[in-house]
Amino acid sequence: MIPLPDLPYAHGALEPVISEATMRLHHGRHHARYVEVVNGLIAGDGHPATSLEALIRQAALAGERKLFNNAAQAWNHAFFWRCMTPESRPPVGGLAGAIVEQFGGLAELGEVFVGEGATHFGSGWVWLAAQDGRLQVLSTHDADTLVTRDLIPLLVCDLWEHAYYLDHRQDRGGFLQAWWDRLPNWSFAQGQFDADRGEGVGWRHPLMAEAPREVASSLEEAADELSSLLEAWVEPGSVQEHRVNELLDLLAAEQEGGLVRSRTARPAARRAASAAEDPASAPGA
Ligand code: FE
Repeated sequence: MIPLPDLPYAHGALEPVISEATMRLHHGRHHARYVEVVNGLIAGDGHPATSLEALIRQAALAGERKLFNNAAQAWNHAFFWRCMTPESRPPVGGLAGAIVEQFGGLAELGEVFVGEGATHFGSGWVWLAAQDGRLQVLSTHDADTLVTRDLIPLLVCDLWEHAYYLDHRQDRGGFLQAWWDRLPNWSFAQGQFDADRGEGVGWRHPLMAEAPREVASSLEEAADELSSLLEAWVEPGSVQEHRVNELLDLLAAEQEGGLVRSRTARPAARRAASAAEDPASAPGA
């Protein structure tokens, strides 16, 4: 089972950009419904995931669309709440330097971010993300999430109409500009930026209230799944590589006596994935 994380502030704390009515509907109805559907789908059906991140990647790999959509939406919303604060202050330190270096400044980055979100067709999410210290702005469609990509999200804003229609009607660009000017939690984004560079651990969805399976059984399956994945070509940045990293983390954490995953295992995962490369079976060989 996955929990519905509480908001890290009061429902009315983000006014006037996001009203209390929108927050109550968005968190209490939309987000809660995604969590409810996920828990209904995984109840008693033996999904071995021990985290929402693992569940999302497994659903993507298995093509379980309904589970993926609802699990990804649950994750994206929980992350979205953390990306906002009623006491938004400009970034400082390494992230501020990277923004100036790559975009010229916070206002210029804002133009890119707001433009990306405003012109995104249909529902989705607009993200500020990092990969090996480089920032990028991108949008994803519908429930799609960066959990399945080799990118660390720093900030995200919801582009679904339920996020802004009550307060801004059809003016998505106006909503995004007001959001950018008043709500980003740059302190949180800095923590994510640090995690991308191997300093600290990035945000993880709160753990499931109860593991769907016995730990020993899950670990045996993790080892089996890992050996199976490493028999084939593992494309860098692919869902498969994410899953390999995750399984290695899980097994390493268990060796250390706990199930807390750490990104420090990722270089080992990459080496293992590279070791599995067989030029004869690689695409295009
Ligand atoms: Fe939403």
